[in-house]
Amino acid sequence: MRSRMIFLGAFALVVVVMVIAAASQTGSPQSGEASLAAKSGHTPEAVPRLKRHLFAKTALYTRSANGMQATARSLEEQTLDVTTVLSNVGGYDWLRIVNTAKGIDGWIMEHLTSAVPDMKIPKNGLLPIGQERVDRYAALPHDYKPADLVNLDMQYCRIRQIQMRREAAEAFARLHRAAKAAGVSIYGFSGYRAYETQRQLYLNRITIGERHRQRYVARPGHTEHQLGTVVDVVGPDIRHAAMHSFDSTPEARWLRTNCYEHGFVLSYGADNRIPTGYGYESWHIRYIGKAAIPAWVRTHLDPGHEVARRYAGR
Ligand SMILES: [Zn+2]
Repeated sequence: MRSRMIFLGAFALVVVVMVIAAASQTGSPQSGEASLAAKSGHTPEAVPRLKRHLFAKTALYTRSANGMQATARSLEEQTLDVTTVLSNVGGYDWLRIVNTAKGIDGWIMEHLTSAVPDMKIPKNGLLPIGQERVDRYAALPHDYKPADLVNLDMQYCRIRQIQMRREAAEAFARLHRAAKAAGVSIYGFSGYRAYETQRQLYLNRITIGERHRQRYVARPGHTEHQLGTVVDVVGPDIRHAAMHSFDSTPEARWLRTNCYEHGFVLSYGADNRIPTGYGYESWHIRYIGKAAIPAWVRTHLDPGHEVARRYAGR
């Protein structure tokens, strides 16, 4: 699971590069700073603000010639308007927060923030399967927990029982039986993961780990596991769980060509043409429904790919 999460620190870099690129069209950013206000030429009030969600309580910092210093002021979890981004001061990327109404003007660490979701949870508590977008750029709402989670029967699980959305769990049971008929045994060991679980996982890693550990685990809201349609799988030998040794097992080989028939895709497949920002994960499959498979295959796989050829014309 860790290798999928390599994107993390890269997000800040992308933001900085985009903003600097935009700013340099209208004037050079000064002293490494790229004000978002600099890019549009509009009056400051009209400038679209970058919003980020702060998911951990943190000190507000001030910037001086010696770098960043924590102030006595702390900020609670909240969504914030960002005016400026600044990369790699003291090994971290920073966001400047200005809110005159609240008397806030200072800096916070970028890696404690996530994207602000642009989606609304429908009244029935269910995002439409296959249309949800969550990746290194797009986050799910922190309070999104699919309303139709069920426990996957233990006969389909290893290591622990997992939860999936009902339709995805039923599809996985069919995938398991089809695989078994083909002589391979595929079990789930990680399914739905709550926002709060991911938040704790992330914060524990960055607290106890080395400084750049935050690059290797997804930020809260940015994991497909929160969808409830994803399952990490393993074969009979659980030593391969979440390990690249799984790649060359008969189970992984079967999945690469057959998961699509059951409405699943390899989100982080080795052959995907659309970069996800995540590393290859042969064990992470996502249910998008059979109807969505042909379009997914067309956009994600090379036309010459064995699976793409099978779906051509469908
Ligand atoms: Zn996974």
